[in-house]
Amino acid sequence: MWEVYALRYAENTGRRRRNHFLPPDDAHDTPHPISYFVWAARNPGTGAVVVFDTGFPAHRAPALGHTWHRTPAEALALIGIDAASVKDVVLTHLHYDHAGGYDAFPAARFHLQDAEMAYATGRCMCHPHLRRPFIAEDVTGLVHHIYRDRVVFHDGDAEPWQGIRLLAIGGHSAGLMSARIETDSGPIVLASDAAHFDETLRGNPFPIVLDMKKVLEGHKRLIAEAGGNVARVVPGHDPAVLLRFPAAGPGLDGKVVRLG
Ligand SMILES: [Zn+2]
Ligand SMILES: [Zn+2]
Repeated sequence: MWEVYALRYAENTGRRRRNHFLPPDDAHDTPHPISYFVWAARNPGTGAVVVFDTGFPAHRAPALGHTWHRTPAEALALIGIDAASVKDVVLTHLHYDHAGGYDAFPAARFHLQDAEMAYATGRCMCHPHLRRPFIAEDVTGLVHHIYRDRVVFHDGDAEPWQGIRLLAIGGHSAGLMSARIETDSGPIVLASDAAHFDETLRGNPFPIVLDMKKVLEGHKRLIAEAGGNVARVVPGHDPAVLLRFPAAGPGLDGKVVRLG
């Protein structure tokens, strides 16, 4: 069984609902903060650690209007995980806020869907609208890691570690992965960007969409993978995650929460 954590590294309190929901939305110009997370699973029995996503580098935060809190590596250190010795990192997809911080994991292999690398390096990136959430240097750096045997490709669902199932959802990005992780309190589903907010799961999709059918089917699947209990689905960018779940330890309120 695994212990699962959500770790916030940045946020943006200047966002509005129109940034996060499609029309028609009846309150499009009201405030709607967004948080930026990485996640970690630790197996106390075996000592295994799997990190989900790598964030983006701090120097990019000002231009994005984001408030920087701490590097994902600093956040992991708060719960005793040394980023430099982590062996496995799942990249849920290659958007800048998920796949821009992999240099902090020099010992890791990066798990990625075939479809995501194909998407981020192919014809679709000729369209400015589709390439907007990607940063070329992040993608090309990861291509270099393929040649160093540091990328593990998956094609569809996979269970690389007992009790951690990677779910090929797509929709928001071609190879978007979520994950279902077994814990002592039952399965926890890390949605990543298959559901940015709790409200996303109530039929209100995020505006970055490659395939709306897959986005909407993905919402249903996340809830099904959580045994029908939407409270066990952890949205990828919702500040409320830090309130819904208990702090991972003393002094960690608003920083790191224990999901299961
Ligand atoms: Zn994304
Ligand atoms: Zn994101």
